[in-house]
Amino acid sequence: MKNKSFLILGLSAFLIWNCSKSESSSSSEEENEEVTTVVDKTLNQQETGASANDFLSNDNYDKLIIEVAYVTGYQPEEAAILDNLEFIEEITFKEDIEVQYLELDSPNEATLSTQEVYDLEQENRTVYTDGTTLGMYIYFSDTTFEDDDPDSGLYTLGAVYLNTSMVIYQESVREIAKASTLISNATVETATLNHEFGHLFGLVNIGSDMVHDHEDETTNDDGEIIGNQHCDQEGCLMRAELQFSSGMSKMLTAKNGQVPDLDAECLLDVAANGGR
Ligand SMILES: [Zn+2]
Ligand SMILES: [Zn+2]
Repeated sequence: MKNKSFLILGLSAFLIWNCSKSESSSSSEEENEEVTTVVDKTLNQQETGASANDFLSNDNYDKLIIEVAYVTGYQPEEAAILDNLEFIEEITFKEDIEVQYLELDSPNEATLSTQEVYDLEQENRTVYTDGTTLGMYIYFSDTTFEDDDPDSGLYTLGAVYLNTSMVIYQESVREIAKASTLISNATVETATLNHEFGHLFGLVNIGSDMVHDHEDETTNDDGEIIGNQHCDQEGCLMRAELQFSSGMSKMLTAKNGQVPDLDAECLLDVAANGGR
């Protein structure tokens, strides 16, 4: 109920703002605005994990549309998308899931920062949360991540940066697959997609409360021990090392190319927040 009234309020606020803007704009701009669909983007501008329950249950949204945006030549494998959909259906109650593909030009950069990924999303994304449909955006980039540390072999495979926004660094994904006969592009893509979706489902301790404490810990720059939003259980999909290429290839090799699953603790958390 709360969410519904927020949506209506949000939409009308946007309409009012849009109308008042039209009045003061030139006639050519007015023509453009008439064909613009009114979308309340604020629903897709919340922090990671904020929509965990909206993914897991059908209380507020009974449909999910995933926009798969990819740079030409970097389209994910069909098998990876199908396996990822299977994972979403296993963990959540969503049954009505649609995938829309969007081919994009390369930004012609070697690396991208999270800010740049966000800016590209603002330019290109067309699918937003609307009515009882939850909108999701995944960008398959032809670059690596700007903050990678090649000296330590730390290449980031993927990240989530808002409640319905994800990036997969295909350049790094493909490097791993190239290096091992046990591991295919599709396997790394599936494992990375599933791990990042795990974060959007509120794991670990970011939107889905822990039933039992199982958050992994890291020492920060001030020497304090803090939770690192990953799982401390052996072999779990939400292990911290899976976000980096070296950890991913180690784990996939150890599992003979099998994509890791959520462990019992992570499954308890998503079930407690409206999931299966
Ligand atoms: Zn992670
Ligand atoms: Zn876990």
